[in-house]
Amino acid sequence: MTHPATSPVDHIRTWLPELTAWRRDFHAHPETGFEEHRTAGLIAERLRAMGIEVTTGIGRTGVVGTLRHGPGNRAVGLRADMDALDMAEANGFAHASTIPGKMHGCGHDGHSTMLLAAARYLAETKRFDGTVHFIFQPAEEGQGGARAMLADGLFERFPCDAIYGLHNRPGMRVGQFGLCAGPMMAGAAFFDLTIQGRGGHGARPESTIDPVVIGAQIIGAWQTIIARSVAPADTGVVTTTGFEAGSAYNVIPDRVVLRGTVRAFRAETMRLIETRMRELASGIATGFGATATLDFREIAAPLVNQPTQTDLIADAAAGLVGEAHVDRRRVPAMGSEDFAYMLAERPGAYILVGNGEGEGGCEVHNPGYDFNDAAIPYGGGVLAATVERDLAPR
Ligand SMILES: [Zn+2]
Ligand SMILES: [Zn+2]
Repeated sequence: MTHPATSPVDHIRTWLPELTAWRRDFHAHPETGFEEHRTAGLIAERLRAMGIEVTTGIGRTGVVGTLRHGPGNRAVGLRADMDALDMAEANGFAHASTIPGKMHGCGHDGHSTMLLAAARYLAETKRFDGTVHFIFQPAEEGQGGARAMLADGLFERFPCDAIYGLHNRPGMRVGQFGLCAGPMMAGAAFFDLTIQGRGGHGARPESTIDPVVIGAQIIGAWQTIIARSVAPADTGVVTTTGFEAGSAYNVIPDRVVLRGTVRAFRAETMRLIETRMRELASGIATGFGATATLDFREIAAPLVNQPTQTDLIADAAAGLVGEAHVDRRRVPAMGSEDFAYMLAERPGAYILVGNGEGEGGCEVHNPGYDFNDAAIPYGGGVLAATVERDLAPR
């Protein structure tokens, strides 16, 4: 497949030095959930310079740019996330984080830059008929930024007939794309289980109700939920990541706290897992004379791609890089993504953009990760090409 002369990828690539400078500046100044003031300010400023109408303060630090062209009344939303992570960066390059304990470890600096690139391209070429809303979302990393924007009336104020989003994927070559129709990323929940027993001397266990032993039994019992309660063709994850107990060698503590995460591709499976966790925890605790209180909080819904928009963005990607470089049947991942809440309200699709195998191959949320600037034209290009297809002039 030859690239047409007007390919958005090639067009955006002519701005790559400037876009790379923008991306690295975001990287050097990471801001975590709902604190993206500098980032949002720069995004608003750059959108205005492109002649795009800007609304700020949606979902606290969110930004929406609106671009209209032609008589069409169909509207498309393109969404990127802006937030960084609470983690220390291990990289020593010039654009490494200047803020101790904060890092763009998930590439949202790159996603924001890709969306700015798409906006600039669409504002300049205007080969579409209708309205495009450029949605820059805060607080994707488990803090509810998508829900904050929705609660602020995102789709009432900026009606969208379809929405599209993306994420970089380390280990996938630059210029490759992947997605699937239906559930593509899992829903996620965090939990804390407090077990209240009765503490005492470590050498006199008969006078205590030892919550450490109870906690150990519960962790083991929970592992049977996926094996025995969830149907084999369905799937899920129950992971206990924290076990907070006593600190002395000879003291049995009064209480312990277990914490961790649950993942599932269907809301019903998530509810089933929660119910079984509660039943097993309280049943086991009661058997020992203790009590167990479970705080179970959903932090992301399952991300579900709609078939029409999945085909449309996959066709747009194939138009840019050729069908051989688009994996339309990518295996769903157990990670989760806040964009799921927007996709639950409007039809749309989410696509993965290759971040590279060697350079760019370091996994996200790793202290050595960096977004690969060579991917900017592909991410920006696929969003722009999707608009040109979804809002094609008649
Ligand atoms: Zn992340
Ligand atoms: Zn991310």
